[in-house]
Amino acid sequence: MSNERDTVVRTFTDRVGRPPAGVWAAPGRVNLIGEHTDYNDGFVMPFALSQAVTVAASPREDDTWSVTSLNLDSTRTFTRADLVPGMSGWAAYAAGVVWALEGAGHQIDGADLVLSSDVPTGAGLSSSAALECAVLATLAELSGLQIEPLERSKLARRCENEFVGAPTGLMDQAASTLCTAEHALFFDCRSYAAEQVPLDLGVAGLELLVLDTKTPHDLVDSEYADRRATCEEAARRLGVQALRDVLDLDDALARLSDPTMRRRVRHVVTENARVLQAAELLGAGRIRDLAPLLDASHASMRDDFEITVPTVDLAVSAAREAGAYGARMTGGGFGGCIIALVETGDVDRVGRAVADRFQRARYAAPAWFAGVPSAGAGRVA
Ligand code: ADP
Ligand code: MG
Repeated sequence: MSNERDTVVRTFTDRVGRPPAGVWAAPGRVNLIGEHTDYNDGFVMPFALSQAVTVAASPREDDTWSVTSLNLDSTRTFTRADLVPGMSGWAAYAAGVVWALEGAGHQIDGADLVLSSDVPTGAGLSSSAALECAVLATLAELSGLQIEPLERSKLARRCENEFVGAPTGLMDQAASTLCTAEHALFFDCRSYAAEQVPLDLGVAGLELLVLDTKTPHDLVDSEYADRRATCEEAARRLGVQALRDVLDLDDALARLSDPTMRRRVRHVVTENARVLQAAELLGAGRIRDLAPLLDASHASMRDDFEITVPTVDLAVSAAREAGAYGARMTGGGFGGCIIALVETGDVDRVGRAVADRFQRARYAAPAWFAGVPSAGAGRVA
């Protein structure tokens, strides 16, 4: 049993007075490639991490939900009457799942939940989707519901969009729900078609460094809205439903006069093409050949979409100088994490090289780990 599982089972048993009916978990994720393509109806390629939210739970007799986060040392209790969108605090991510399930016509029974997570929060690794998907897997099974995986991810997203109030796409919840071990998820954000593409790093003699730059991202919301609006306006001027539909980039660029808009379009169209190429390469078992795509993705985010910041650019260049094959920022931008493809056993050496450069630049110390493509949400005990 993992530490996390041990901890939630022990704490649940202490607090409730009997062992839990079961233990469920749902992972955080990183996006291997495909940034800001989701709202352009394009492609993304996340994989689930081994870091997860783990929940021990049992049904209770009354229509009450009691949720404890061991990370925050906080217990929140709510009933149906409390299920009002906009609820404040972390428990909204759990209450919103009950709200979304019931809104879809499912009857959810009261339950006690004790959870613990090793997904870093606020680093762009989707601790919020992990929390939602873990609670959803727990409550669905305790209430005896059969819900298809894609439908589960849509319900978890409804919680985040409509109950918590964060306007995100489906990628995070789809990754946390649909991913399988040793695979990335090639996901079409228009059709929601999902394909598992092999990503067995060990067999290829590789590891994937995930490094959190610990950059506070204050600008995220306004910059995100700006990029999104520019992409939508560009699609309108080009007469397409979304930038995913731009098939001839040169022709599209020739038809747009605004230089900033042209750069934004070039990022989205080339990034979509890179995801398609990545899917082909992984399908052929050519993981090492992802390296130039990771580099090109980073350059495109830095120069065309302009969503990187100095810490992130330094982390990427320091990782490359330390011998990483390819590296890029992952996530929405203005901070968060980078990923770098490195030789097996090199994660700590490359992480330390980045940390040295950060220290010399007087940046906050980064944190890092090896990202291991892992299974999506499910019962673990
Ligand atoms: P990210 O998803 O990138 O980690 P978000 O801001 O979307 O960042 O979500 C982080 C929020 O999710 C936290 O502020 C908290 O409200 C909630 N959360 C995540 N993990 C936990 C946890 N283990 N316990 C309680 N709340 C959590
Ligand atoms: Mg989140």
